[in-house]
Amino acid sequence: MNKVTVIGAGTMGNGIAHVFALKDYQVSLVDVSKGALEKARATIDKNLDRMVAKGLIKEEEKSGALSRIFIFTEMEAGIHEAGLVVEAATENVDLKLKIFHQMDELAPAAAILATNTSSISVTKIAASTKRPHQVIGMHFMNPVPVMKLVEVIRGYATSDEVTAKVMEISRLLGKVPVEVNDYPGFIANRILMPMINEAIYSLYEGVAGVEEIDTVMKLGMAHPMGPLQLADFIGLDVCLAILRVLQDGFGNPKYAPCPLLANMVMAGKLGVKSGEGFYQYQPGSKELVLADNFRKK
Ligand code: NAD
Repeated sequence: MNKVTVIGAGTMGNGIAHVFALKDYQVSLVDVSKGALEKARATIDKNLDRMVAKGLIKEEEKSGALSRIFIFTEMEAGIHEAGLVVEAATENVDLKLKIFHQMDELAPAAAILATNTSSISVTKIAASTKRPHQVIGMHFMNPVPVMKLVEVIRGYATSDEVTAKVMEISRLLGKVPVEVNDYPGFIANRILMPMINEAIYSLYEGVAGVEEIDTVMKLGMAHPMGPLQLADFIGLDVCLAILRVLQDGFGNPKYAPCPLLANMVMAGKLGVKSGEGFYQYQPGSKELVLADNFRKK
């Protein structure tokens, strides 16, 4: 299985293409947006350059990886020889069901169909195909070339063989795979999102300010980033959507998103990607500046 198709060339898709191409896979990268494909290629080039500069790979490995990535705006053109398809398109249930239906129609019968979803049920996605035993979650972490973990999510019908194969492929990529069952939030987000939500509740209730909350978790718990900064990095809209999946999936009010989080998303304050969340972000600057709303008056 040396041909992989990646569907979606955004933040995650470009990283997934990067790691497969570096390990000698031929990668077809598919996106409906030509702009996203061009941006992905430029990002992969830049990230490989960074690895060369750090001495992690040689210049020839970089050029080899780039020469193995082919871009397509139509799925038909890039999927017919794939042994594995990894879907990393926008987090939207209806979109993913439509994409999986198309993947099922077009990919070879033996191909494994994986999704990088953060929160949507793998079982539900699998049920939209005629090969649910070959459908699995392959949840990479952001940034993909750097982060070691892959959460391998078994849907209700995923076979032992397919799970073992995806665990093996993940190890081949130099990652550490962890097998989990398909329940809302899997493991990563089931534990992370309530912590982020609790940090936002602590701010909302006036227990402490943004910097104080993040400092407690960084210095007290040795987290590399405080939960509010991490929420900005993930995207506040993404955090809100995942909390709603947990709340609906378990029917438990303990997952109810904090009203402050919902308000910030409605106001378009989405974190790094919109330029402001709990902090403000200027392009090219790494300085952490508190958002105006959270400055002491
Ligand atoms: P993104 O918005 O950066 O990229 C999504 C890409 O999908 C876009 O380029 C869009 O043009 C493309 N797309 C939309 N419809 C398509 C279609 N029909 N066919 C092909 N491409 C299509 O999103 P992202 O952050 O890369 O997230 C992708 C997936 O990875 C989501 O399921 C998300 O939950 C998951 N994920 C994200 C992160 C993260 O930190 N961003 C971490 C882990 C998992």
